[in-house]
Amino acid sequence: MTSLPLIPVASDAPARRAAMPPQHLADLDLAGRQALVAELGEPAFRAKQISTHYFGRLVRDPQLMTDLPAATRERLADRLLPRLLNPVRELTCDDGATRKALWRLHDGSLVESVLMGYPDRVTVCISSQAGCGMACPFCATGQAGLTRNLSTAEIVDQAVYLAGVAASGAVAGSPPRLSHVVFMGMGEPLANYARVVAAIRRLVAPAPEGLGLSQRHITVSTVGLVPAIRRLASEDLSVTLALSLHAPDDDLRDELVPVNQRWKVAEVLDAAWDYAARTGRRVSIEYAMIKDVNDQPWRADLLGRLLAGKLAHVNLIPLNPTPGSRWDASPKPVEREFVRRLRAAGVSTTVRDTRGREIDGACGQLAAAEDRDIDRAAAASA
Ligand code: SAH
Repeated sequence: MTSLPLIPVASDAPARRAAMPPQHLADLDLAGRQALVAELGEPAFRAKQISTHYFGRLVRDPQLMTDLPAATRERLADRLLPRLLNPVRELTCDDGATRKALWRLHDGSLVESVLMGYPDRVTVCISSQAGCGMACPFCATGQAGLTRNLSTAEIVDQAVYLAGVAASGAVAGSPPRLSHVVFMGMGEPLANYARVVAAIRRLVAPAPEGLGLSQRHITVSTVGLVPAIRRLASEDLSVTLALSLHAPDDDLRDELVPVNQRWKVAEVLDAAWDYAARTGRRVSIEYAMIKDVNDQPWRADLLGRLLAGKLAHVNLIPLNPTPGSRWDASPKPVEREFVRRLRAAGVSTTVRDTRGREIDGACGQLAAAEDRDIDRAAAASA
């Protein structure tokens, strides 16, 4: 048995703060932006104007903000819209319906986001931390450990940037408007609690304060940090909670999701059912199907017993094998039998379509691998 992992939580220690990026308007609510603009000696309504450009029109270039006096534009943009995400590369697959963006942050950290177009909606999968401290052995991000928490604006800007890409018509066959956001990129969102909740508030606030998304269209995925789930349930938000369960029994979950050594299956499900009761939202139970590890019929039956009659939906994710991993995805017949048993127990179950596999953009593959190649190439040519 491995020892209990350290659970990194949002920290305000000076060392961490030093690594944080400059403040951006998306870090602040509208009142905060108005106060800041006033401090800069400008009329408070400029906060609304610049917010309308950023959240309403998805414009961030001060030259295009022609309703602001030319002299003011640059100054306000410098202070309120510093560049947070430097695009390193964008990769496309699934005939252009999936795009992965790799960003370099101000301190050199790398994070990734994924844009997925469907006939009826556009979803972005965003990162909440650079790296991750949860150490799930099947997840590529988990292997590298945690670098740092992202700021609220670094989180929000991923969605705003990719909303702009969608609005440009880049995702053929999909609506131009971003509709869904999932916190399923790099990092454990509930370990960066305050910034993630602030980011959710920006995403759902109507323009110009925010992006105006529906709360129901936002999903926060967690390994199961029980106190944070309970705290989220007490916010006046009703976002969808996804719980990365991956095993119905503590023996196996202790290994697959090491935080289970701290909060057991029964405890985390208890918190999930409280979340469902308080918000009226069905909890999404995430279960990566790993060949001969967690895909046995008896585990399907045990999972079925745990979930029967609850406000839950099971999302089976075919494992995306990560480099160096000893694990593989379950064979399709095994997966079908698992689904059949869950449904027989009365549990609603679907298998997730795995977008972005060829560009390492599928669940658990986000590890900024491209950039290691870039750095290697740069070192070789230096
Ligand atoms: N830290 C959060 C969000 C990260 S990833 C969480 O764990 O929920 C989103 C989902 O992808 C999680 O359910 C995660 O367990 C799953 N995942 C990670 N690696 C995977 C892999 N290699 N194959 C399939 N799913 C994976």
